[in-house]
Parts: sequence; C-alpha cells; structure tokens
Amino acid sequence: MIACAGNFCGKTLDHPKNRVAEFTDYLEKRFEGPLKSTKLKINVSGCPNGCARHLIANIGLQGTQLTFEGKAVPGYNVYVGGSTGSNVPLGRLIQRGARAEMVKFALANLIDIYLKNGANVSFTEFCNRNTAEELQTILNLTQGEIKKMVPASVVRVDEQRYALDVRGYPCPFPEIYTARTLEQLSAGQFLEVTLDNPASCDGISATVKKSHSERLGN
Ligand code: SF4
Repeated sequence: MIACAGNFCGKTLDHPKNRVAEFTDYLEKRFEGPLKSTKLKINVSGCPNGCARHLIANIGLQGTQLTFEGKAVPGYNVYVGGSTGSNVPLGRLIQRGARAEMVKFALANLIDIYLKNGANVSFTEFCNRNTAEELQTILNLTQGEIKKMVPASVVRVDEQRYALDVRGYPCPFPEIYTARTLEQLSAGQFLEVTLDNPASCDGISATVKKSHSERLGN
C-alpha cells in the first residue's frame, strides 16, 4: 500500500498514512495467509491531486469530504482496475464518497469476493469482469452477507443440462450469475438454478424471460 504525503500537506482531506496503517492492520488480521500470496496494489491519495497515483493502482482511493449526520467527515472515492504500462486503463470509479471509517470494510468485501471467485485471474481482470454497479454492490454488503457467499459453480449434468448453485448469495448476485450462465448455453440446453434467497426468484424469472426474448430477437 502507498499513501501520499498528505499528513504533511495542507491540501489533504484526511490522514492518508494513518488510514493506510489502519487498512493494513485490518486486512492482515482478516485475511492472514491468502493476502500474502495476492499481488494487490492499494494507493491512497489525500485529495484529487493524486500524488499517490491512485488511478494506476489495483485499488485507488482519493480523499474527499462528505457530510454525514450534519457534520463534515472525511471520505474516499473508490477506483478499481488501474494498472501501469502502455495501453492499460486507468482505474474505474465505482463509488463516490465512501465514509473513511467504512472503507476498510468495503475493501475487505472486494478482496474477499475476489479470492472466492477470481483469484486465478489478476485483480484487474476480476474487476473488468464486473460492472461498476456490481462492484459497488459488493463494497456495500454486510460482513454477514459476504461470509455466506461461496463460489458460484456451474456443473454439467449431461449434454443438455447444467446446474448452477447460488446458495448463500444475496441479491442481485443470483440474477447476475444466472444471466451470465445463460449466455454461455446453446438453444435446447437447460439450466437448473439452486438458490436459498426467495427475493431472487422474481429477478431470476425476469432474467430468464429477458434472455429468452433476446435470443428470439423480440
Ligand atoms: S494527493 Fe493531495 S493531500 Fe496528498 S500529497 Fe498530494 S496534494 Fe497533498
């Protein structure tokens, strides 16, 4: 993790070095081993000047100021998927104004889901596979919801039938994973979805109807 020199700079909207120490402490305790083998750059700039180069980090945080319960409090805009080198994208803004004290939980959510679903690809690739809305949803899940999530797995039952297990996923993930799996299937193939989140049933029905209607071209 890199922090700008904001603690000694009049422009900072927070204390980036203290914040990096707080994030490191929290993430190391929460992930212990897995984090050591994960290549992840997190850069924290105290203001839009971006001296910590947050736009070329895997996760970039840019200090900002918010109003929370009538008071001015520090916050961060969250960018993901930045990288260095030629022809690579800058970080994508996925959340404006996360409260500084909540950022470590949001980062942990993102890393947790990455480790569960995409650790065989780079963090940037994992971020590119998800829309900004999906990534923002992950940032804001509760710790309990995150804990319940296990990797969604598609199993081939036979030539025509596939099974998708999305138990443990809160909305909107069952819909998202169902839609993605349907995109991979050919005409005449069946998908059986197992879920334990009643709120997602309607969403999945709508997803199936939409996919069916798009394939028929109407
Ligand atoms: S990013 Fe902003 S707060 Fe940090 S050192 Fe640069 S000017 Fe100062």
